[in-house]
This record gives sequence, C-alpha cells and structure tokens, in this order.
Amino acid sequence: MYPSAFEYSAPGTLDEALSALGEAGDEGRVLAGGQSLIPMMKLGLAAPGCLIDINGLSELSYIRESNGDLAIGALARHADVAASDLVGRTNGTLAAAAPWISDPLVRNRGTVCGSVAHCDPEGDWNSVMLAVGASVVARSAAKRRKNRERVIPIADFVAGPFTNSLNPGEMVAEVRVPKYRGAAGGAYLKLERKIGDYATVGVAAHLALDAAGNVAEAGLALTSVHQHNLKVTEAEALMAGQTPSPELFAEAAEAAARSCDPESDIRGPADFKRAVVAEYTRRGFAAALKQARGEG
Ligand SMILES: Cc1cc2nc3c(=O)[nH]c(=O)nc-3n(C[C@H](O)[C@H](O)[C@H](O)COP(=O)(O)OP(=O)(O)OC[C@H]3O[C@@H](n4cnc5c(N)ncnc54)[C@H](O)[C@@H]3O)c2cc1C
Repeated sequence: MYPSAFEYSAPGTLDEALSALGEAGDEGRVLAGGQSLIPMMKLGLAAPGCLIDINGLSELSYIRESNGDLAIGALARHADVAASDLVGRTNGTLAAAAPWISDPLVRNRGTVCGSVAHCDPEGDWNSVMLAVGASVVARSAAKRRKNRERVIPIADFVAGPFTNSLNPGEMVAEVRVPKYRGAAGGAYLKLERKIGDYATVGVAAHLALDAAGNVAEAGLALTSVHQHNLKVTEAEALMAGQTPSPELFAEAAEAAARSCDPESDIRGPADFKRAVVAEYTRRGFAAALKQARGEG
C-alpha cells in the first residue's frame, strides 16, 4: 500500500530539526531508522502530515560517557550499541540485549531512541531501559530556555502501548543509562520462534551488589507478556537488601510470573509464556550475579 501524502524535511542540525518539529505541531513525526514508522505508514496504521528526517544529524550518532552516565544519542543504531566497547564494559543488560534486536538489516538502520520512542510492547529496548533505570532526554524548540529540555524517567516516559509521554514539538535527543558503580551485572534473555522475530518472551535483569555482597539494586522488566513493557516492581522490592541466592531468584521469578498478563497467540499459550517468564527470571538473575561477582 502507498502511504498517504506527507510533507518531508531533512534538517542538517538539531536546532533546525526542533524548529521544524515545533512548526509541524501534532502533524510532525520524527523519522529515524524508519524500521517501524515506514511499515506502519505503508499499512495505513500511521498517517503523519509531516516527516522530519533526522538521519542528517550526525551530531546525534554518539554513545558516550556523560557525567558518569552512559548516553545514547538519537541516531545511534542498534548495531552501534552491539559493537560498542563502552557498552560492553559498562552495562551487561544493554550489551546482552543489542544482538537480539531482529536481524543485521534492522540493526544497521533502526535506532535505540526510535525504539524507545515507539513504545512497542514487543520491543526489547524499553524492557532493558526499565530494568536499568534509564531516563529519556526530550528536547524541543520551546520559547523559554528552561522548557527546552526535559529529563523523563523511563517508567514515566512509557505511557502505554505505542504511546509515549512526549509533547507535540518534542523529540528524544538522548537516552541516559546510569553507569554501574561497584559490583553489578545484567542479562537479557529472549525466546523467539526464529532469528529476526519479535520476542515470545523477553526478560531484562539487572543486579548491583553492596560492599557486603547483598543486593543494593535489582531491576527486572518483561517484553511481550503485557500491554506494555512491564517493570516488575514487586520482584525488585523483595530482592532489595537481601543476600542473592537461588531461593531469592525463585521468589522474584514467582512475582514476575504473577505480575504479567500474557495473551495466547501464534507464539504460544499464555501459561507457557508465564512459565518462560519465571525460568528466564531465575536464569537472568543468576547470570547477572555471576557477572557482578566477576565470574561470568
Ligand atoms: C522485520 C523487523 C523486525 C523487528 N524486530 C524487532 C525485534 O526483535 N525487537 C525490537 O525491539 N524491535 C524490532 N523491530 C523494530 C526495530 O527495532 C525499529 O528499529 C524500532 O522499533 C524503531 O526504531 P527506528 O529508528 O527504526 O524508528 P522509526 O521507525 O523511524 O520511528 C518509530 C517511531 O518512533 C518515533 N521516533 C523515532 N525516533 C524518534 C526520536 N528521536 N524522538 C521522537 N520520536 C522518535 C517515530 O516518529 C515513530 O513514531 C523490528 C523491525 C522490523 C522491520
């Protein structure tokens, strides 16, 4: 199908892009990798009046350290994260998830920030971001300087399936991930029917230990088993301050299976998905613990 007619602009700088977005108002949509937006337009599921193509903004294609955090710019592709030494050294959950995004074609083109903005409940990145406590940096061309940048915790950014909390005229400029301080590790486990498929079940696990080896911080989020990427706060809370053990991970796994609400569909029955959530939660935290202890 042909998409409906739209205006197109390809700004050369971030300021130009923000002006174009501001002028387009409700009709404006950012075009990043196009791996979700273009198929949706062709299927008639999206009909933006104006596309602002940010692919010329090479200033946004970074992955770097910024004030102790890991910062991923709006044009960093999935493949850039998969290949990044900095990510590999500093965040086990992100490093584990990147190679699981679809196939090389999609990874070479699609962006992490586009995926975060898209809020597809079957998308892998928002589970990762929820588990590691990321924030989204939104920019706009607002008249008042102090309104031009908002830092939104990812749990507030994900407003629902395919819905984020950006205002018209705002775009995601960067995603910020707190860098591990001290002993920490992470994992992303994904069950898929075949290479390149979306998750039947995805589990993102993050674990940071205090000086005594107890859980200082636990992060857990699930893909494809709820209306939106689900942060399992019950599991995170019950693990805080505890000594990590198979029994503790089993408790977290039970909480995860209880919290999600999978649908029976072509990828499998709901009970099966719930069982995979529990098993992958146990395995995810076991892998994160090994990494945090420098054993894996
Ligand atoms: C065959 C196939 C398989 C896939 N499999 C997976 C998978 O296994 N796991 C997975 O997680 N994803 C998968 N995807 C989706 C892929 O990861 C996309 O790259 C991602 O969802 C969107 O990123 P994008 O850069 O392509 O965004 P686009 O398609 O350009 O945009 C998507 C949406 O986000 C908005 N947007 C993009 N960037 C910004 C920004 N900086 N600020 C504000 N809004 C923005 C757009 O306006 C649009 O609404 C798959 C896609 C395809 C085609």
